[in-house]
Amino acid sequence: MTTALEAAKERLREAIIEREQELVELLQALVRQPSTLGNEAGAQEVVANYLREGGIEPDVWEIDEADLRSKARAANTGVPYAGRPNVAGTLRGVGGGQSLILNGHIDVVPVEPISDWSYDPWGAEIVGGRMYGRGADDMKSGVAVNLFITRLIKELGIQLQGDLIVQSVIEEESGGNGALSAALRYQADGALVTENMGEEYMLSEMGPFWFDITVTGLSEHAANAHKGVNAIEKMVPIMAALRELEAEFDANRHPDFADFEHPANLNFGIIQAGDWRSVVPRECKLGCRFAYFPGTTWEEMDARLRATIDKVAQADPWLREHPPVISYTGLNAEPSTISVDSPIIQTLSAAYKAETGEPIYGSHATGTTDARFFRNVSKIPATCFGTIGQNCHAANEWVELDSLHRVARVVGAFTLDWCGVADE
Ligand SMILES: [Zn+2]
Repeated sequence: MTTALEAAKERLREAIIEREQELVELLQALVRQPSTLGNEAGAQEVVANYLREGGIEPDVWEIDEADLRSKARAANTGVPYAGRPNVAGTLRGVGGGQSLILNGHIDVVPVEPISDWSYDPWGAEIVGGRMYGRGADDMKSGVAVNLFITRLIKELGIQLQGDLIVQSVIEEESGGNGALSAALRYQADGALVTENMGEEYMLSEMGPFWFDITVTGLSEHAANAHKGVNAIEKMVPIMAALRELEAEFDANRHPDFADFEHPANLNFGIIQAGDWRSVVPRECKLGCRFAYFPGTTWEEMDARLRATIDKVAQADPWLREHPPVISYTGLNAEPSTISVDSPIIQTLSAAYKAETGEPIYGSHATGTTDARFFRNVSKIPATCFGTIGQNCHAANEWVELDSLHRVARVVGAFTLDWCGVADE
């Protein structure tokens, strides 16, 4: 006897195969909208229209930055939110199942330098089984899969038990406020972010963040430099202490990162000091990127950093009187993790195995994805899974079309397994 679930999965799978050209065309329509930071409106209109044409009324909302800040550690891109909405659509379940969020980001990174591209970055050209274009892989592929699956379930009249919520959010590439806003607006029993994971899934992610350190010295004519305090030189022991902190983090790493060569990467990205060769510089500002491991809270991270700087300052009579100032700006992502035994991982693994006959592999990231907001803010199990491609954040980005279709079949089966299907 075939259950309602098995029958629905077979119908959905057949429809995905039969109508795969629709998925390709949807992805092309999305790639042809150059949705870099601040320019997401056109692509989000494609998303909203696709839902509307499928009989799903889209929820289109602009992010309220003040509201985000009052609830979480939000990023700040400095770009106003008017006219740059998030979009979501919901298929209501009849009850008795688990609800699911299928999330993807619509924003893409810039295409410069364009001269490095052999294809139009906004052309969505198909050559040799690949679609080329910015966002073709990262991750309009996943956004298209999520929308396509949701509309097919609706059109086929498959009655889910749990609610299915599909989301297209902005600003993943610049701090994550789109997903943060979505995580605060919608709650579910699990979330799948269809990032271009090369058909693997995401377990642990580190918490990359930015910070600045400012040291104040005493300006003086260079001929009397010994009477001044050189702010650049006062920064040197601080840089050395930060390198020691980095080594300490690497030595005490989270076990998920045991095989990584060097996960806790501290980068001195910007240094600004001085105006003139013959003047002792009065101020030195150092801009850094660092990342911490799951299991450490932000409060602990902040305290470790302040203690490291303070130790240097206490050993130096000038810095003791003129303490260095730490400030946090821009990226501030918390680490996150999920157990391989979590039901969402198990359900996804089973769907992948059933579709491909192959086991799926989990991976860990020294960077971050939007999955962290579902894990850390919504407190729900979340992971990432998506297409095989290459050159995201570089010239000639492409997605493999066979992988796009395979991911659609896996996400389709996973969605029905997770949400459950009502008996006819
Ligand atoms: Zn991405």
